[in-house]
Amino acid sequence: MFCPRRNAALLKEREADRFHDECGVFGVHGHSEAANITYLGLYALQHRGQESCGIVSSTGREHYVHRSMGLVADVFGEKTLEKLPGRFAIGHVRYSTSGGSQLRNAQPFCATTDGGTVAIAHNGNLVNAPSIRRELEGRGAIFSTTADSEVIVQLLARSRERSLEERLIDALSRVKGAFSLVVMTPDALIAARDPHGFRPLSLGRLDGAWVAASETCALDLIGATFERDLDPGEVVVIRRGRLRTLRPFTPVETEHFCVFEHIYFARPDSNLNRNNVYTFRKELGRALAREHAIPADVVVPVLDSGNTAALGYAEESGIPYEQAMIRNHYVRRTFIEPAQAIRHFGVKVKHNAVRGVLEGKRIVLVDDSIVRGTTLTKLVTMLRSAGAREVHVRIAAPPTIGPCYYGIDTPTREELIAATHSQEEIRRLIGADSLGYLSLEALSKVSGGLKHGTCDACFSDKYPVAVEVEKVPPQLSLFREVEEER
Ligand code: AMP
Repeated sequence: MFCPRRNAALLKEREADRFHDECGVFGVHGHSEAANITYLGLYALQHRGQESCGIVSSTGREHYVHRSMGLVADVFGEKTLEKLPGRFAIGHVRYSTSGGSQLRNAQPFCATTDGGTVAIAHNGNLVNAPSIRRELEGRGAIFSTTADSEVIVQLLARSRERSLEERLIDALSRVKGAFSLVVMTPDALIAARDPHGFRPLSLGRLDGAWVAASETCALDLIGATFERDLDPGEVVVIRRGRLRTLRPFTPVETEHFCVFEHIYFARPDSNLNRNNVYTFRKELGRALAREHAIPADVVVPVLDSGNTAALGYAEESGIPYEQAMIRNHYVRRTFIEPAQAIRHFGVKVKHNAVRGVLEGKRIVLVDDSIVRGTTLTKLVTMLRSAGAREVHVRIAAPPTIGPCYYGIDTPTREELIAATHSQEEIRRLIGADSLGYLSLEALSKVSGGLKHGTCDACFSDKYPVAVEVEKVPPQLSLFREVEEER
């Protein structure tokens, strides 16, 4: 029976799937331990997605795949990795909003086309995926996932070009938005970045093999040497140990590398387009101290997200840095717990105050960003009940006023506290004595030192690629996977 409320929830879920994916990708070509190396690479990229992961390996003739919900270390054991033979492998870690957290959306996606077998691991979000999907469905296409990335597979399968490589380029020429991809064809590893260069993708070498990874921290872990980053709009094809470069897309005027990768998302030990993340965050902290100075006794980071900016703030201001909150590392990221009720609980589980450091002190509490405001509301209360005399909150980024449509998971605009409240209202809601955000101008100044142009749409509300928000036909419903119960 058609139930409008349930259907509305499913539609919302499907829409959410299309816009909110955070992912990491990895690929290796020409190494006897391809699956093991991919496992390690994904391990280093775990922060980019914690809900599902997968590895596809290939001997050239046979292809093997294992995908599952869960963390890399839980999903892949020695025995599973042994069942992934071959000198070629790609892998993926994924996080999406609650609606999309289903096994069918776990990547890499695999397809057998009349041109051969392909597997695709995608990081980013395609803003025109809804209309392409509707068009293809109208022509009889059957989609087996709710993820935007599947349109690439479907377009590739239908392309009239000859080789899989040409078909992939044909498919990518039709999609708009963000993609950093690794693709496995029977004989080639293909890596590609969209013309705006929203998401990172680096190339490395290991024992003569080629490696592609979302972040350089994955190259470090496996002991690969960094070769270079892919350019925006570049496609590289690695076949029989040789790398060929193509630039098949219409170039755009400026690069739009996601500034939030630098601010929060990437690991501080990574270099994004040759810019060290740690150094950048420290610079933001310094700029924050110059913009929002306040007499205080200690600078305290929100671990781990505000750590590096807090160090910068402390150095610039001369106020001592103290880790006056201890983080329990066995709790998953607060932000990604599926329900608001659990999120509230999660903050308390995650951080505990060090009373001895806080008692009677004036605190500068530094974090990278405020999204819904949940974390800071809890932490300010916690610091006060541990004896802090004053709590001054400093945020090493401008107010988050717009959702990301290019691959960072952010809630809807209505849920973003800075989109709906003034700074004074936010200060009152989180219970701080003062609140200071880094200005957009200061961020632009620090970003000016980067070796590339940036996208700051979540702070400036200026979206470099128009976003398509299309309503899905209301009669649509989804099959929901149910877990086996033992
Ligand atoms: P909230 O409690 O909703 O205000 O979330 C703020 C916290 O979430 C901060 O500590 C941020 O470091 C972190 N955060 C910001 N953006 C994201 C994101 N896209 N995914 C996960 N965590 C995030």
